[in-house]
Amino acid sequence: MHRSSSPLSADRIFMDSIEIRQSFKALDYSRDGKKIETSHFTFEAFMSAKLATVLTSENPAGQDVAALRQVFASITAESCPHLYNFHMHTTHSDGQLQPELLMEQAIDLSLRGFAITDHHRVTGYQAAQDWLDLWRQTAQAMDRTPPRLWIGTEITSQLLETEVHILGFAFDPNQRAIAPYLNGTAPTGEAAEAGNVISAIHQAGGLAVLAHPARYRRSFHDLVPAAVECGIDGVETYYAYNNPKPWQPSPKETQQVRQLSAHYRLLNTCGTDTHGLSLLQRL
Ligand SMILES: [Zn+2]
Ligand SMILES: [Zn+2]
Repeated sequence: MHRSSSPLSADRIFMDSIEIRQSFKALDYSRDGKKIETSHFTFEAFMSAKLATVLTSENPAGQDVAALRQVFASITAESCPHLYNFHMHTTHSDGQLQPELLMEQAIDLSLRGFAITDHHRVTGYQAAQDWLDLWRQTAQAMDRTPPRLWIGTEITSQLLETEVHILGFAFDPNQRAIAPYLNGTAPTGEAAEAGNVISAIHQAGGLAVLAHPARYRRSFHDLVPAAVECGIDGVETYYAYNNPKPWQPSPKETQQVRQLSAHYRLLNTCGTDTHGLSLLQRL
């Protein structure tokens, strides 16, 4: 899997830097041909500022797929909901939490990492990310490690003629394969086929995970292998199927799904699938 090439690639920055260096050189001489002091320093400072901006916009933290893969590899039954949580909804889809209130809760809980996974939308994530960027600059943020927030979405898909939900994480939302899945409505026809959904997530540089594998009309014993055929990266192994309080992954399902995921060498994720007002519960 590789990240799609962005128009602001390192090559492009290098080419730009040559052009800009030349124009800085031209500035080294005033009109009467006498050498004036400009600087190398100005040029270097300019370029490093430019590079920093571009690198951040090219690979924002929310799209850091390598870091997310590492976190997924460390997930256990104890990770969710107090350390990590990779499934939650905001008012931007069918959830009740405003992104800003969700962020306040994530910080109060001292979550290490999480993803917002609204159905077919990333606007809730974007509002939360904007809030987090501002919060980082406040005095309150000084003595705290902010949680890591990843971009996510949940896409309604067809697998073995069964409706399933596929979670996408750490993708580039502007990449053209995935953009049509983020317009607020569930895909239909060919576009909804799990293979196409997973491929779109991959083309956008992200990871695809089969959500709540034991919640469908068809058994996860059939669905997981079929998802593997389609290129799925992981399964939401740790999920609370009957909304227990306090939240805990359903023991029987977890054990069986974990066996399958080990067999197919899949990543395991965890999530509360929060639709209500508490990140510690589903509803
Ligand atoms: Zn779902
Ligand atoms: Zn969900």
